[in-house]
Amino acid sequence: MKDVPHAAVSGALPILLSIAGCSGPEPPSIVLIVIDTLRADALEPHGAAPGSSPRLDELAREGVVFDAALGVSPWTGPSVASIVTGMYPDELGIHDFRDAMPSSVVTLAERFSGAGYSTGAVVSNGLAGPAYRHDQGFEDFHFRHYKGRRRDVGDELAGRPVFTADRVSDAALAWIGTATSPFFLHVHYTDPHEPYLPPPRWLARTSETLDDEAILEKRFTSGDVAEEMLDRVRAHYAAEVAFVDHELGRLLDGLPDDAFVVVVGDHGEEFLEHGGFFHGRTLFEEILRIPLIMKGPDVAAGGRIDVPVSQVDIAPTLLEVAGLDAMDELSGRSLVSAISVGSNARTASPHIFSMLEDRSGSARYAVRSGSWKLVADGPTETIRLYDLERDPGETEDVAGRHTSIATTLQRALGQKLRLSVPTPDEDPGSEADREAELRAIGYIE
Ligand SMILES: [Zn+2]
Repeated sequence: MKDVPHAAVSGALPILLSIAGCSGPEPPSIVLIVIDTLRADALEPHGAAPGSSPRLDELAREGVVFDAALGVSPWTGPSVASIVTGMYPDELGIHDFRDAMPSSVVTLAERFSGAGYSTGAVVSNGLAGPAYRHDQGFEDFHFRHYKGRRRDVGDELAGRPVFTADRVSDAALAWIGTATSPFFLHVHYTDPHEPYLPPPRWLARTSETLDDEAILEKRFTSGDVAEEMLDRVRAHYAAEVAFVDHELGRLLDGLPDDAFVVVVGDHGEEFLEHGGFFHGRTLFEEILRIPLIMKGPDVAAGGRIDVPVSQVDIAPTLLEVAGLDAMDELSGRSLVSAISVGSNARTASPHIFSMLEDRSGSARYAVRSGSWKLVADGPTETIRLYDLERDPGETEDVAGRHTSIATTLQRALGQKLRLSVPTPDEDPGSEADREAELRAIGYIE
C-alpha cells in the first residue's frame, strides 16, 4: 500500500481540522460502484424489461440518470483508470494490457485519504487491481479475482467465478462496519463479464441452460451464431445483471442515508450488433454507452440528463461533492451543478472522446458531440460519421453528406491528441506481474 504523498496530507489539514472541530457540515461519505461489462440498455431506466434491475431502477428514481454517459475505452484498465483520475487513457499513458496506472498520477483515493477520509476498496477484476497500481491511496484494498483460470489464483473452481457479487457485497459491508466517517468506498463487481455463469437461482429465471464452452469458442467470430444461441447468451447475461443488481441492493441498504453514491459501467458488451461478441475491439454504442447514476443529499431525485457526459467527469464531480478542488489538469468537468437541478439546464456539451490504442501506434478514436459521432482510425486516417439521432444502430456513414461536421470533429480530435501529455511514470512497476495477472484471468496463454 502506498503512503499518501506528504504534500497532499499537509494541503488537506484545514479540512481535517474542520472535520475534527465540527465547524461546518461533515462532507458525505462517497461510494463509487463500478459494474463490469454493463450495457446501459441492460437496465430498466434505459429500456430493459421491468424486473431486470429493480434496485438500480430504485436508485435512479432517487437520484439522477445520465442517458448518454460514455466510456473512454472498450476495456476495463483504461476505463477504470479514467474514472478514478478524471484523465483520458492517452493522458495516463495506458495503451494496452502492459500499462499500469502511473505512480505519479493523483487518484481519488489519494485525494480523499489526504482530506481525512477513510479509504477502502473491494475489487474483483485484476485489471483494476494492485498489479495495475489501482491500490494507490487506499488504506484497505481488498482484491480477489472474479474468476481464475489456474488453481493458484482462483480457488476451488478454476475457470469459474470465485469473487462473485454476493462475496463482493459481503466484503464491502464488512469494511463499512470498520470504517470511520466520512469514508470513500470503491467497489468493482465483475459478474456481467464472461463467462456468463449466474448462480442457479438467477439462471432459473431464463429457463435455459447455456453451453459456456460453445459460446466462448464463438468469441469475436462473426455471423455464424444461430439466433437461438444468441437468445440464450443474452438471457444468461441478463441473469448476471439481475444477480449483481440484487447484491448491489444489499450493499445500498447498508450505506448511510446521506452517502453520495455513483454507479457506473466500465464498458458495455457486444451481442453481434456489428458482427462480434464480448468487448475490447470496437467503439460502437453497445460498447461505449454505459449506465451512470448519481444519488446524494443535494441531487435532484428523478432527474434525467441526456447531454453526453464521460467517465472522466466522475472524479471532478466527486471532488466537488467532498469540497475539494479539482486539479486544473483534469480533462473531466464536474457535474455537480447539473445533478443539483437534474436536467440539461446546467450541462455543457464539449467534445467527448473514446479510444482504443496499442503500443504499436495503431489506434481508433471516437468523438461525440450532441448526437454526432465520428469514428477515426488514427487521428487523420479513415473516418466515419454517424448521426445517432436518426441512426442509433450506426449503420450508415454520413461523413460525405455532412463534411463540415466531420471536419469539426476531426479537428477536435487532432487538437486533443496534440495537447495530450502522457503522465511520466518514474516507477513503471513490473510488466511480469501484470502478465501473470493476465494469464490468471485467461487473457493470454
Ligand atoms: Zn471491464
